[in-house]
Amino acid sequence: MTARPAPRLPIAAGAALTVLLVVFMIAAPAQAAQRTVYLTFDDGPLDGTSNVLSVLEQEQVPATLFMVGQHVLASSERKALLARAKAMPLVTIGNHSFSHANNRYKAFYADTEGVVADMLKANAVLGLTVKPVPARLPGRDVFRLRYVSRNDLSVGEVQAASEQVDFEFVAASDFDVYGWDFEWFHDGTGKPVQKAERLVDEIARLFAYGHMLEKDKLILLMHDQMFQDKFDGVVNLTALIAGLRARGYAFGHIAGYSPAD
Ligand SMILES: [Zn+2]
Repeated sequence: MTARPAPRLPIAAGAALTVLLVVFMIAAPAQAAQRTVYLTFDDGPLDGTSNVLSVLEQEQVPATLFMVGQHVLASSERKALLARAKAMPLVTIGNHSFSHANNRYKAFYADTEGVVADMLKANAVLGLTVKPVPARLPGRDVFRLRYVSRNDLSVGEVQAASEQVDFEFVAASDFDVYGWDFEWFHDGTGKPVQKAERLVDEIARLFAYGHMLEKDKLILLMHDQMFQDKFDGVVNLTALIAGLRARGYAFGHIAGYSPAD
């Protein structure tokens, strides 16, 4: 078999290509420096989810809602919230388990098959069929993505090592597991601890010092319940989005956080 000569570009086309490449090389560093915030909301559908969806719709920003299967089954209102969220193109629904480990995390992660079964059960309730399914494990800041992996060392090294098998099996069961870089904390009454403006300052500092898993990308954890107040809920979340926008940050779809290949 003889090799075919490579087709030659006409000189004009070649020159145009060079110009394009130069333009791209000049433009590329600016693009790479774009700082992106990934808004994530855990534990819904709950009181607060409706406000979250309204603000996302109003502000037209993408976000991920990591939902709990048994919260969906609690009432027809909760089922309607899931349906409303799924109908929004900017919203990604993620799996946050069926049981939320019943908030007994050590016991939950001692049973690997149980963990995987609980996650698959939530897929069925949430109607998540496109693989890999974005997921966040209950009570654990763990990442299992193609190029990003991290255990939750806040539980101690021995416990983290013993739970590792769970995370590998969940990832192998067609889940992309996302942790978080920073949390907007809430107090005992479910209200945000810091004012939105303060949180934006803290996020700016994290970007400045590069304190995140992936450069220039920050996954922010919040909880739906934090926004349940009829008035303050909407005001606080709207203020956060406005503050992040004013800093020039982009808002990302979680699927774009880690490249697929
Ligand atoms: Zn949770």
